[in-house]
Amino acid sequence: MNLPQSAQHAIVIGGSITGLLAARVLSDHFAQVTLIERDALHDRPEYRPGQPQTRHLHGLLASGKTVLERYFPDLIEELAEGGALLGDMGEAARWYVEGGYRLQYQSGMTGILMSRPFLEWQIRRRVLEIPNLTLLDGTTVKTLLATPDRSQITGVQIHRRAANQAELTPQMLTADLVLDASGRNSASPCWLAALGYAEPPETVVKVGLCYATRIYRRQPNDLVGAANLIISANPPHHQQAGIAFPMEGDRWIVTLAGWDGNQPPLDEQGFLAFAQSLPAPDIYNLISKAEPLSEITPYKFPASLRRHYEKLSRFPAGYLVMGDALCSFDPAYGQGMSSAALQAALLDKLLQQPDRRLLCRSFFKQAAKIIDIPWQLTVSEDFRFSGTQGQKPLGTDLINTYSTLVQRATHDDAIVYGAFLRVMNLMSSPGSLVHPRIVWRVLRSTLRAKISDLRQQQQDTQISCVLSKQLHSSGLKGLLSLLACGKATPIAKLPD
Ligand SMILES: Cc1cc2nc3c(=O)[nH]c(=O)nc-3n(C[C@H](O)[C@H](O)[C@H](O)COP(=O)(O)OP(=O)(O)OC[C@H]3O[C@@H](n4cnc5c(N)ncnc54)[C@H](O)[C@@H]3O)c2cc1C
Repeated sequence: MNLPQSAQHAIVIGGSITGLLAARVLSDHFAQVTLIERDALHDRPEYRPGQPQTRHLHGLLASGKTVLERYFPDLIEELAEGGALLGDMGEAARWYVEGGYRLQYQSGMTGILMSRPFLEWQIRRRVLEIPNLTLLDGTTVKTLLATPDRSQITGVQIHRRAANQAELTPQMLTADLVLDASGRNSASPCWLAALGYAEPPETVVKVGLCYATRIYRRQPNDLVGAANLIISANPPHHQQAGIAFPMEGDRWIVTLAGWDGNQPPLDEQGFLAFAQSLPAPDIYNLISKAEPLSEITPYKFPASLRRHYEKLSRFPAGYLVMGDALCSFDPAYGQGMSSAALQAALLDKLLQQPDRRLLCRSFFKQAAKIIDIPWQLTVSEDFRFSGTQGQKPLGTDLINTYSTLVQRATHDDAIVYGAFLRVMNLMSSPGSLVHPRIVWRVLRSTLRAKISDLRQQQQDTQISCVLSKQLHSSGLKGLLSLLACGKATPIAKLPD
């Protein structure tokens, strides 16, 4: 095969979601694009060694869906035809958080639920049809090539298996732009250091998040009134969560999660017991009756990791870093793929400008703003867990106190829930949740909940008094007749 060389040639390292989206965008702006993936790829949905996280639950947020629709107009329709579930983010989820269920209502934001390999395969099929794109799978990028003064990246050194040969042979591939989409273990900091550049400053927030995932058969009447189940953790007291999403092939994917090294068990009984220990019974009720179709697979996510390329004062021309290689955050809110999609759309916008000299600097600066939204949301949430370690942003405790009220307000206020969903879907900044209109509604909802709690307490006390009097005047027989006619419930506390 003749590999394309420089002169309007772009190279993308990594053929996962970020790499595929970047390659799609670059194909509109470069004469040739080469997509390099270490794993061998096949024309089917598949789990592969380079992305172990894909065995676990992945949902696509509304913002990610919008970007995918722009670059692959028929994709969403075909995903749905293949069994993916499109659902309104507010209406489809039965979501237990902070002691109650969120309101179920039409939010106007549509997410997509399917297996991650199915989504990636459908995107990959489309990318591989692009005429000016070449895929080199089973090929590993080993290092970067640069001009003698090292001011410009000029290509990559690759190792690939030549036809009919067992040996991996090194080759040089030149390009005008190289984009690293090789995920959180990206070697960019080392490659750049070898060329004399400083490594990007990193922010690391250790969360010790442990996943365990199992697939079950899905029957038509498994769930009534909702399409999926989410039971959030309630830190610091309760550090465990669970999610059940439908996926293609009439299956459920169920992920149980524990923070601070709290690994959900990998055996049948332990997995069920963990589900039963969650603050709401829905997931346990679902999986205790469903037929398992897979083993239970673990995954450890040690820390959220952000590489601040935007803070470097020296950076070579012709090189970009995108997706998880730039920032990989706690997946609890499922924002990684959507963040990558928004970064791809940003790259597209910047490449439309005729002067590309400032491309890298502008990209990192503006990508940092995209990343700020999921980063702020997930990192402040992470600091609600007692074991989280890292630099805690100023004001986090205050934000979390307010955030708890916001979460509780989503039990009965659709406007507050909508505002939260917009942040979660990367459509608004977390700052939008302190807009006076939202603050007012959050406080009103908090006050209502307090009043309702007080009324309940009062009612309980009144019932106790009635029961106590009845017990004194008529003895046990009178009490039993009161219970029998439904005027009192045995939950009411009897005085000693
Ligand atoms: C447990 C878990 C659950 C998640 N759930 C969600 C979710 O619900 N929703 C969501 O949006 N996001 C979720 N994410 C995040 C999501 O998986 C990533 O954001 C997404 O995969 C994009 O990553 P990426 O393409 O940048 O990197 P990756 O998916 O990590 O892919 C990197 C690719 O680069 C290849 N590669 C690496 N090095 C080289 C090299 N030197 N040469 C050639 N190829 C190389 C690898 O083989 C791999 O294919 C989750 C993450 C985790 C860990």
